[in-house]
Amino acid sequence: MPELPEVETVARQLNAAIAGRRIRHLRLLDPKLRAAGRLSVDDYRIEAVRRYGKQVVFELVPPRKRSVARWLCVHLRMTGRLIHVPAGQTMDATKARAVIELDHGGVLFRDTRRFGTIGIHEDQAAVLPAGVEPLSNELTVARLKELLANSPTPLKTWLLMQDRLVGLGNIYASEICFAAGIHPARPAGRLSDAEIRRLRTAIRRILTAAIKHCGTTFSDFQDSRGEVGGYVKYLKVYHRAGEPCRRCSTPIEKITQAQRSTYFCPTCQPD
Ligand SMILES: [Zn+2]
Repeated sequence: MPELPEVETVARQLNAAIAGRRIRHLRLLDPKLRAAGRLSVDDYRIEAVRRYGKQVVFELVPPRKRSVARWLCVHLRMTGRLIHVPAGQTMDATKARAVIELDHGGVLFRDTRRFGTIGIHEDQAAVLPAGVEPLSNELTVARLKELLANSPTPLKTWLLMQDRLVGLGNIYASEICFAAGIHPARPAGRLSDAEIRRLRTAIRRILTAAIKHCGTTFSDFQDSRGEVGGYVKYLKVYHRAGEPCRRCSTPIEKITQAQRSTYFCPTCQPD
């Protein structure tokens, strides 16, 4: 499942490739997506493509003076991909759930498991995520402390709560707990001030490094150019159960928290 760095990668690449282009027509080929077609985006100009939480959002400027801006939001979920097709290349829509036809080239939305969604909104507030963006200036140590306060939820599970911090999923939640040196089962509301500082540093460092390497590909993720994410070789604990910790050589352990696998080093992250 794409997390913040993977969605950021796709949004940045699309922004570089298609910002300023005009949408000729949005073709919704999968009947499951048809509800999105109530509002048209045809003839809208793409002002920018950005990541909002885990969504790729196309910020659209209206074709006529009087109509209002619109936001085309794509949630990739498990297997969704947005693939940029440059002008002059054949747009093969056979496996696509939707096609964004542009004045030059286009974008294919492919999604084998069909959990991804498309939404079109006239109200930016409806698009903005409920939680705090972990890379924004809003995530100060004080704000993080406030968000964590009194929560009995185990830290790793807490990191997945999208109404607290947006964009973290199973891979980076384990990696962040390791980088912060905190046991993933510790109640989120019981962290010391020093641990909260380490946690904030870890969140920002891990996400920034993963974005730099265009995300992590475990099974499905591909960026808008059809390439895999390069961060996989930097993972310290995720999917490494039984293998030696890269810091202390203790075998990495795997536990289940809220039906999801968690990986950690029992020496570097004491309970
Ligand atoms: Zn270790």
